[in-house]
Amino acid sequence: MSIKIISQEQLEQQNISSVIRQIPLLFYPSTKTLYIHRAARLKTLAENNPLSDYLLFCAKIAEQQAKLINQQNTIEAPNLLNNDLAPLSLENLPLNDIWQDYLSELLNSFSDTSEQIDAVIQRLKQNNPEQLQEKAISLLQGKFDLVEGNESIFIWSALSVYYSQLANQIKGKAVAENTDQSWLCPVCNSLPVASVIQLGGNNGLRYLHCSLCESEWYVPRIKCTSCDNIQDIQYFSLDNEMAAIKTECCDACHSYLKILDQDKDPHIEVIADDVASLILDIKTEEEGFAKSGINPFVFAQK
Ligand SMILES: [Zn+2]
Ligand SMILES: [Zn+2]
Repeated sequence: MSIKIISQEQLEQQNISSVIRQIPLLFYPSTKTLYIHRAARLKTLAENNPLSDYLLFCAKIAEQQAKLINQQNTIEAPNLLNNDLAPLSLENLPLNDIWQDYLSELLNSFSDTSEQIDAVIQRLKQNNPEQLQEKAISLLQGKFDLVEGNESIFIWSALSVYYSQLANQIKGKAVAENTDQSWLCPVCNSLPVASVIQLGGNNGLRYLHCSLCESEWYVPRIKCTSCDNIQDIQYFSLDNEMAAIKTECCDACHSYLKILDQDKDPHIEVIADDVASLILDIKTEEEGFAKSGINPFVFAQK
């Protein structure tokens, strides 16, 4: 997947249909509101949910992420000139250690917490900067098994604050090319969390939401977002076929990802609602499908 700066002339040459040309292919994150909204939604979802305690823990992380965005001086986006690579991919932009400041603030904000969470925090604090950098790079390369799942949640949350600010700043500098390879974020090359049908405005178009930089990119509906298959796509939901949250399952590659419909429930927040509907993941996996994305609050060890 690549991001390219495409001129109007090139668009004509590529013969992208007029419909495609008119729709936004990429939304960059609004970092000022994103984490505040997520924390509030997690708290609401915690009210009547068997995962209540866990959702409140996630809400606390999201609140701290919001604080970090407000406290820190704005990060300067470096020159991102290689048009053939996703601009914020590791290949195009090596990871510096700014995110580690976010991690220490995040860890220090959990002073009054459960014994189990405290043990994870203490373990992370014993890591030296090189060890932390190595763990972060493993996660960014998708080698999730190399880092303990609970440590990954904190590391990824700090990385996400860093990458979402960069994504917010490169706004307007690039557009997503409409390629067939739709499963990785065109901004940072990470896996999606789920897809979302955005509220109003975009005529029921669906976008994948990035698990790292929080950008959203367009992918046509009723199509596997992992292998591009368009046949035998099945949907599962917990309540009925009108449910706002479904899993979209592909018989060709046996993968699935959730699709969340804000037209059916305008309060949906992708990451919050994805983690709160974990039971639907369990049911879908029982049917033989494997998730083709990740949720930043769920790094299960295989
Ligand atoms: Zn991304
Ligand atoms: Zn597939």
